[in-house]
Amino acid sequence: PTEREVLDWTTFGAATREVAQTVVDSGYVPDVVVSVARGGLPPGGAIAYALGTKAVGTMNVEFYTGIDSTLPEPQLLPPLLDTDAMRGLRALVVDDVADSGETLALVKRLLSAHCAEVRTAVLYAKPRSVIDPDYVWRRTDLWITFPWSALPPVRPTR
Ligand code: 5GP
Repeated sequence: PTEREVLDWTTFGAATREVAQTVVDSGYVPDVVVSVARGGLPPGGAIAYALGTKAVGTMNVEFYTGIDSTLPEPQLLPPLLDTDAMRGLRALVVDDVADSGETLALVKRLLSAHCAEVRTAVLYAKPRSVIDPDYVWRRTDLWITFPWSALPPVRPTR
């Protein structure tokens, strides 16, 4: 069996507090936290609470169709974020992992056209990523099992 990096829910909780602490210690005060759905939703929500940031948004991007199988490039999916509402704001974009980094690079490029500043935070960064996020909890080159996608979707009990 291929070796995996496994994140459990308890460690996830501690990780998001640690990431938020490094954001605060860096002096960055985001006006809005933007989660990259879906993988960035749990860390983005937890980090927004840890920062005390009430304004949150999402950008829904699809890239991976399975382990090591991707679409040709990341695709923005509806519903779309109202980028006019982002004008002049300092944004913190949160995702679970920067793997190829293409997803975060796309989101950063789209938001940078509107925001005053865009910084990025991830739980994990892989060495091949095309962007080096501003805030990284851990670095690995393994496939990561996240607690929210470790199990298949629930099915009717009977
Ligand atoms: P990227 O565009 O940086 O290659 O990755 C985009 C998305 O693919 C990530 O936000 C994540 O949802 C998914 N992904 C990439 N690498 C991994 C991984 O090692 N494990 C899991 N579970 N998802 C991954």
